[in-house]
Order: sequence, then C-alpha cells, then structure tokens
Amino acid sequence: MFGRAPKKSDNTKYYEILGVPKSASQDDLKKAYRKAAIKNHPDKGGDPEKFKELAQAYEVLSDPEKREIYDQYGEDALKEGMGGGGAHVDPFDIFSSFFGPSFGGGGGSSRGRRQRRGEDVVHPLKVSLEDLYNGTSKKLSLLRNVICSKCKGKGSKSGASMRCPGCQGSGMKVTIRQLGPSMIQQMQQPCNECKGTGESINEKDRCPGCKGEKVVQEKKVLEVHVEKGMQHNQKITFPGEADEAPDTVTGDIVFVLQQKDHSKFKRKGEDLFYEHTLSLTEALCGFQFVLTHLDSRQLLIKSNPGEVVKPDQFKAINDEGMPVYQRPFMKGKLYIHFTVEFPDSLAPEQCKALEAVLPPRSSSKLTDMEIDECEETTMHDVNNIEEEMRRKQAHAAQEAYEEDDEMPGGSQRVQCAQQ
Ligand SMILES: [Zn+2]
Ligand SMILES: [Zn+2]
Repeated sequence: MFGRAPKKSDNTKYYEILGVPKSASQDDLKKAYRKAAIKNHPDKGGDPEKFKELAQAYEVLSDPEKREIYDQYGEDALKEGMGGGGAHVDPFDIFSSFFGPSFGGGGGSSRGRRQRRGEDVVHPLKVSLEDLYNGTSKKLSLLRNVICSKCKGKGSKSGASMRCPGCQGSGMKVTIRQLGPSMIQQMQQPCNECKGTGESINEKDRCPGCKGEKVVQEKKVLEVHVEKGMQHNQKITFPGEADEAPDTVTGDIVFVLQQKDHSKFKRKGEDLFYEHTLSLTEALCGFQFVLTHLDSRQLLIKSNPGEVVKPDQFKAINDEGMPVYQRPFMKGKLYIHFTVEFPDSLAPEQCKALEAVLPPRSSSKLTDMEIDECEETTMHDVNNIEEEMRRKQAHAAQEAYEEDDEMPGGSQRVQCAQQ
C-alpha cells in the first residue's frame, strides 16, 4: 500500500501516550484524552510538548481509518500516506473540539482537517415547577437546514463547480482601505459572491431542488422529554440535529430548561418551600388547612394538640419535596414557613381577658419614684428595617469612596507599579 512496510515496532507509542491498551474503544480513547489534555494544558502550566503529543495521538487513534494504518504500519506510514498531514495537528484545535466554545463538546470523533464542526443551536425551554415535579414531554417544531437530497449537497446538476470568479476560489476577499496619505489597512473578509466557499455554480447547472444553495429547509418535530426532578438550566441534547452543511459535522440542538416562578412554591434543589400565614388564634390554639401539591394531591396540614407555632417558624414534611432526578421515588423535604398575623390593636377588656389566661408579664411593676427618675421617650414605626439599613450602608460607602478619590497621587502609584 505504501511501497514498503515500516518496522512493526513503533505502533504502540500513541497508546502509551494516552495510557490505554491497544484494545481501547473509541469511548475509552475519548475519556483518556479528555483527562490527560486538561491535566497537560499549557494554560494550566502543563508541558506544551506533552500536550501536542496527546493531541496527535488522539487525532490518529480516534479516526478508525488512520488507526488501522497505524496499528499495521506505525507512525511513519501515516506521514507518508497523508503527505505529512498526520504530523501537523493543531493541539488547541483538537482540545477546543472537546471543551468549547460550543455547548456540551464531544461531537464527531473522526475530525478530519476539512471537517468543521457545525454550530450547536441552543434554545431556552420554559417549564413550570409542575412539569419538573411530574415530568412531561413537549413537542417542538423547528426549521433546520438539511443537505439537499437531489444534489447530495453539491448544489449543481452535474456535480461540477467552478472556482468563484470573485475570489479566485480562495473564499476570501481582500479589501484595502486608505487610512492616511501613507497608511493603508488591509482587511480579509469572506467572499460575498460565494459566501466564503470559493465555489461558484453555473446558473444553468444549478440544482433545482436547492437552487444551488446545497441545503434546503426542513421542518422537524422534536419531542423533548422533561424528566422528573430535572433542574433549572439543565440541558437536554439532541446530537447532530442542528443545521446541516456540506463538509461539516452537524452540531447539536440543545434545550436549556428555564424553571418558571411558582406562585405558591419555591424550590431549592430537592426541597420545596411553601409560605403559610396563620392568625394569632391559629398559632396559639391550633390550625388545619389543605395544601394542594404540584401533582394536585390535597395534603391535610395540621398542628399537634396544644402546640404553639411561633412567627417565622419552619416545619418540614419528609418525602413531599421534589423528586430526585433519575431516582424519582426519592423525594426531598417540603418546608412550610409560618407567618403569624397579629391583631393591630386590642380593646382594654380584650387585654383583661387575655391577661387572665396568658402567663403573667415578665417586667415587674415600676414604682412612681422609679418612673420619675427616667427620661420619657417616643417610639415610631419602622416599616422596613432592611431597606433602612441598606440605605445607610450605601451612604457610608459613597462617602468612603469620595474620600479615597481625593487622595493625591492615587492613580499615579498604580501606573508605576505596572511598569
Ligand atoms: Zn468567492
Ligand atoms: Zn440541490
């Protein structure tokens, strides 16, 4: 196949670099590369040589065709067979195909030089707390580009294409701008005539299916399964369902769950919080009420005989919180937060009646003499103590900032330190 068969001895190096056996599956390779690449990334102080070796080893072994050649003939065969292509890998390119900038990463494993990875399409998907408690599925229809089936993505009837006359086939156009009498700026932009493909198709030869565009729009209905216990911002991925384009590995469609606010319940992880207001009589003498849960069950909530509930008190019910994702039979807690509504004022005879049954006052009676020695005060209402404190803090911070600003030579010092 390549004229001569190189020594069989050097076809284990790539496996050793990744630390996997020769029988490793594609998945094993992926995992091994991912782990080692993070560890050896130069940005994190790793060895750039090692980082490059990893990328090269992974680039070859992740491609079944190249792996077979390597297994049989070793590294040199790849260099010969591919005109040196195997040796020139951009390690950062391979790294970013795993980790970003796209959502999820992963994607096609045989990432050849010309196989770009298409963009992932990310959609937010609003779901109610009921949806996340009970699970649901939503059908969504989307428009996506698919490779034209009539021309198989060639864009022409004959399959032929010419070099774009606008850019001589390079796909880029250079424009020159005069900035001053002796200054010019050169800018490279994708060619507008061929949209950066470098190709042009004769008008008569254009595929009637896609009018030479190579792709056609298709309506696609996706069924998104929202499972019990899924979280806000959790992603549901449909691999390879994004827009298709020639010579491109199709990206994913990713739905990102957006939990809507609920009027009664708040969620914290696996737990639910419910607000309930009691009258003073209920807080002191007992209460019961019906709580409608997220699956419409009616829960009877009642106090124990003789129990007093205090303002701001929490009580919890086990196993009535959110279901745990992928273990829906396990559930968190349901916390109930009690607010107690006090009467605004009481008539003297009401006070008398209450004093007869409630514990005696804690402060002992003051004598007239003791009162005479004190200063009189007036208390006024404070509506929102947090707001009042915040305003005071902001005011103090503003004053401190202004003082700081007036300090002479402050900004100069920073400049010196940078040089
Ligand atoms: Zn062009
Ligand atoms: Zn077509």
